[in-house]
Amino acid sequence: ERDAALVEAEQPAVTLDGRTITVLANVGSVQDAMDARGADGSGLVRTEVLFGEWRVAPTVEEQVGAFRAIAAAFGGKPITIRTWDIGGDKPLAFLPQEREANPFLGERGIRVFRRRPELLRDQLKAICQVAAETPVQVMFPMITTAEEVAWARTELAALKPPPGLKVGIMVEVPAAALRIATLAEGLDFVSIGTNDLTQYTTASDRGNSQVAVLADGLDPAVLQLIDRVVRGVPDGVEVAVCGDLASDPAAAVVLAGLGVHELSAVGPQVPTIKARLRQTNLEDAATLAAAALTLPSASAVRDQL
Ligand code: PEP
Ligand code: MG
Repeated sequence: ERDAALVEAEQPAVTLDGRTITVLANVGSVQDAMDARGADGSGLVRTEVLFGEWRVAPTVEEQVGAFRAIAAAFGGKPITIRTWDIGGDKPLAFLPQEREANPFLGERGIRVFRRRPELLRDQLKAICQVAAETPVQVMFPMITTAEEVAWARTELAALKPPPGLKVGIMVEVPAAALRIATLAEGLDFVSIGTNDLTQYTTASDRGNSQVAVLADGLDPAVLQLIDRVVRGVPDGVEVAVCGDLASDPAAAVVLAGLGVHELSAVGPQVPTIKARLRQTNLEDAATLAAAALTLPSASAVRDQL
């Protein structure tokens, strides 16, 4: 019986009107990858979680070993490796940061590596090495400006990446969503991080339960930014969502309706999300999503679902 469930989970998620939605898994360990039954690959490998316990920075070879193990756990399906996303609530022992008054608005993600490019370079070397063996995408977190994208891409280009390596950015800062057409020029994909995008759009700490009602990814203001990204990317640039919103079956339908055809959820939710999408008519979802954009609040959107 379990095998039958797995066989079903592994089938692609095809909507009632015949559109395939890719359903991937977010992982921070090899175990997470093994728990992601039926996923079409990984839409987010959180490297700062993978090496979260390390006291010294992992070498290129150590990173290659970890990335290879994750790719193998996904049976060689594509994996999306996010470069170190530290800062905010995620410290790394081997990369101490100065105290900041507002860590979530401080040196986070890509911002950290302008001062420590050698750590990013080692990681990119490992990513390039694994990308020569198995399908890999690389993405940069906390991108705010086109200049940051250009810098990151220059760092990567210097390593002569294998031609199959796809390159993307996370869209989790409202400014990035608003100027997506310029930021995404020449990229293969963008992946919307709804956890941070919601936090920054609603000015509500994602970890503070007192403001959890405000920090709801179904807030129409957040949905409008997602809509803007889907419509604003240059032709040929894939749009994914890897924030927790993609793990909520009802929200996954809204995202698909907005035109997001790649969702990356927490591993154990993958079969549920796939099953829900198989019962969805994408045209109906688009109507629902368009209506959600005009509603006054996240709770109004939830009521409508
Ligand atoms: C996000 O911000 O939605 C995201 C996926 O990244 P993280 O949760 O790791 O910040
Ligand atoms: Mg984030």
